[in-house]
Amino acid sequence: MQSQSQGTPYDSTRGSDTGRSLGEAIEAGLAVDGGLFLPRVIPTVEAGELDRSSFVSMAQGVLQPWMDATEFEGSWRAIVSDALSFPVPVVPVQDDIFVCELFHGPTLSFKDFGARTMARLLGDRLSRTGEERIILVATSGDTGSAVADGFAGIPGIQVVLLYPGGGVSEVQERQLITKRPGVHPFRIRGSFDDCQRLVKAAFTHKTWSGLPLSTANSINIGRLLPQMLYYWWGVLNIVEASDGGLVPSVCVPSGNLGNLTAGVIAHLSGMPVAGFHAAHNSNDFFVRYMNDSSSAFGATVRTISNAMDVGAPSNFERLRMLLPDHLLGRHISTSATSDEETLQTMTKVFQQSCYVADPHTAVGIHAIEEARREGRMDGPVLVMSTAHPAKFPDTCERAAGITPEEPEVLARLKHAPKHWTDLDPDISALAEAIRLKTGL
Ligand SMILES: *Cc1c(COP(=O)(O)O)cnc(C)c1O
Repeated sequence: MQSQSQGTPYDSTRGSDTGRSLGEAIEAGLAVDGGLFLPRVIPTVEAGELDRSSFVSMAQGVLQPWMDATEFEGSWRAIVSDALSFPVPVVPVQDDIFVCELFHGPTLSFKDFGARTMARLLGDRLSRTGEERIILVATSGDTGSAVADGFAGIPGIQVVLLYPGGGVSEVQERQLITKRPGVHPFRIRGSFDDCQRLVKAAFTHKTWSGLPLSTANSINIGRLLPQMLYYWWGVLNIVEASDGGLVPSVCVPSGNLGNLTAGVIAHLSGMPVAGFHAAHNSNDFFVRYMNDSSSAFGATVRTISNAMDVGAPSNFERLRMLLPDHLLGRHISTSATSDEETLQTMTKVFQQSCYVADPHTAVGIHAIEEARREGRMDGPVLVMSTAHPAKFPDTCERAAGITPEEPEVLARLKHAPKHWTDLDPDISALAEAIRLKTGL
């Protein structure tokens, strides 16, 4: 397909769907050959020229070479300042360990960065073409609420969420079924795998022809680009605090490897970093791969850091394209942390620093402490804190004996109106229900 707008073309990792514009790549999500989109050229960002007086002004400087000369040229600055209007504090937690808190958006996980920005970019594109879209997502964790909140009320877009009844926490369910304009939650009588199977079937089954479906999972390049921003923010913060003398390593609690991939793209565009560390829970495919490149994807294991329970990371394909095997090991170290070690780390961090780390962040902190003990890492480290501890009150209670203070956005949801539809995991029933709900 020929793209009208200029700017870096986007190509599939599998090589036969090429030359798409950024807008086309966002609208398509997955390439037609089943691959993931990557920019053909990664633009250079000059660290010294960024205006760091606020997160948004820095973000606009970082994104300028990605966004100018695309169809979003006239709109992206306002989109970024509207989507990313929440604080991103960098907090010292222990000796030379800093936490970059990415959970101050409306649904309290880092997924707000990608979902809110992507939603507005897609909405902007649809406003020009006059088309409508249904975003279909299966969720067991933070993606569903970030997508529901990020896409709610965007003209031209409706959201259909599928989640397993009994398979999400009370706080998560509260976030999913809060009534929002254009959002239709379905509580499926089945497992998360049933939900994912329904989404896959929806994109191939003939019952669905005519429904304008899209996805918003972390394979979408529109989610990855805004995720570069907090890497720049956190790293430059530490470089500046040390009078420019120290460049930190960055530790990323990882599942599908989308977050790590965004950090790597930021680095390839000029962001200084001493190295990346991918911190996994018992879902350790990437750790095994780095030791032995013939390792295969594994089955998903359930853990207390459940947003990282991924046996087959979807962004692995993209990461390998960006960093071939001989460079992968030079830029990235990896580790796996058990549930027991995660709980122990939450306890210890609270006792020593009075800091409540959520289970995902604790996996990251544990990884750093272990790497230091074994002499594999030195210098300052920035740990990406992916979720607010209040999303996991039971685990925090178990580990540290404390109930994290409930942020106002979460408390408010208790009294907000709710709605959802109960449904069997049946493809025809779902198609009919979606037609009914969306009127499309
Ligand atoms: C999604 C998520 C992750 C994993 O991020 P990936 O981009 O899939 O590697 C980690 N922590 C939390 C809290 C998440 O919601």
